[in-house]
Amino acid sequence: MTSFFRTKVIKIVPAIVLSLSLLLAGCNSPKSNDDLKSPVPNTSGQDSGQADSSSAPATPTPTLIPTPTIDVQSVKPNEAGKIMVVMFHNFVESFTPTSYDNGEYTTTFSEFEKLLQSLYDNGYRLISMSDYLNNNISVPAGCIPMIFTFDDGTAGQFNLVEENGTLKANKKSAVGIMEEFYKKHPDFGLKGTFYVNLGNSTFEGKGTLQERLKYLVDKGFEIGNHTYTHINLKNTTSAEKIQEEIGKNQKTIAELIPGYKMTTFSLPYGLPSKDLQNYVIKGVYDGVEYEHAAIMEVGWDPAHSPVSKDFNPLSTHRVRASGINPVECDLAWWIKNLSRGEQYVSDGNPDTITVPAGKEDKIDKDKLKDKELIVY
Ligand SMILES: [Zn+2]
Repeated sequence: MTSFFRTKVIKIVPAIVLSLSLLLAGCNSPKSNDDLKSPVPNTSGQDSGQADSSSAPATPTPTLIPTPTIDVQSVKPNEAGKIMVVMFHNFVESFTPTSYDNGEYTTTFSEFEKLLQSLYDNGYRLISMSDYLNNNISVPAGCIPMIFTFDDGTAGQFNLVEENGTLKANKKSAVGIMEEFYKKHPDFGLKGTFYVNLGNSTFEGKGTLQERLKYLVDKGFEIGNHTYTHINLKNTTSAEKIQEEIGKNQKTIAELIPGYKMTTFSLPYGLPSKDLQNYVIKGVYDGVEYEHAAIMEVGWDPAHSPVSKDFNPLSTHRVRASGINPVECDLAWWIKNLSRGEQYVSDGNPDTITVPAGKEDKIDKDKLKDKELIVY
């Protein structure tokens, strides 16, 4: 039985690079399959002998893509699988449920810390919204990409504190916790998109609004549009009002961070009527144009792979982060109920899209662009 099979081998990587990349990857075998980890098939054996011992002048092959040849049967990549776009709201030190807030959208800092560790241990790795939308996913073989989104610009998500004259992310905030976690586990990634309402208080704390936004952007986080004052678009009947609410938010950020474009949008409540929906995607306000490549919904289920035929960024489903009171279809629920086989499991090579036989018809070939499809 061959444990390794690819339809097309672009390049054979020397065994040493191969084993190193697998060592660093950390995700190539799922927890339950730890016993599969050690034997890495030396797929380069056949070629390395020929190439290295040949006395013929080495032919430079600059166009070849460095493909990490992985053992697909143990890694079981599936880049047609689902990706969870997680939606966070509030983070607090401690929470007491009240009659109007049972904590469904609120988590504690300590729970968030535990969540990061458990996601990491289970092979999840953060990617940015842009990389997801552009099918530019680069996580190690066997890892599962995940996207973090944060709505409303709450202080628990991020606020600045002053330390010896410099502004830093409060360690008691989601960003502060992510930064600390990233120091210990840089391969987890430090990525996320913040959907803000710049007409409301945003990331309340030290520093100006400009300093707060700039801090996030400089760290590689993305800022998305969530309307200027968290308006309910569902009840909005005027195209002007919709464009003002969205355009003013874009105008404000471009004034604070010159040239910055919010390219994705998170629906505060829901969509307006059909004839006005296009203004959520595209519009102009006070001479400032905006255009969104993706619309985040207040969702309940995982999103599609960017190469899937079902991929529709203008209706991106999200999974809500588990709150103090876990509910059905929240993140904890999906982690328990979504099998590894249904999820996007990376082949470790951003230049190839690898899927198990039978899943290739899920792939929209037009979305592959210059990536090679590998079926095993
Ligand atoms: Zn909101």
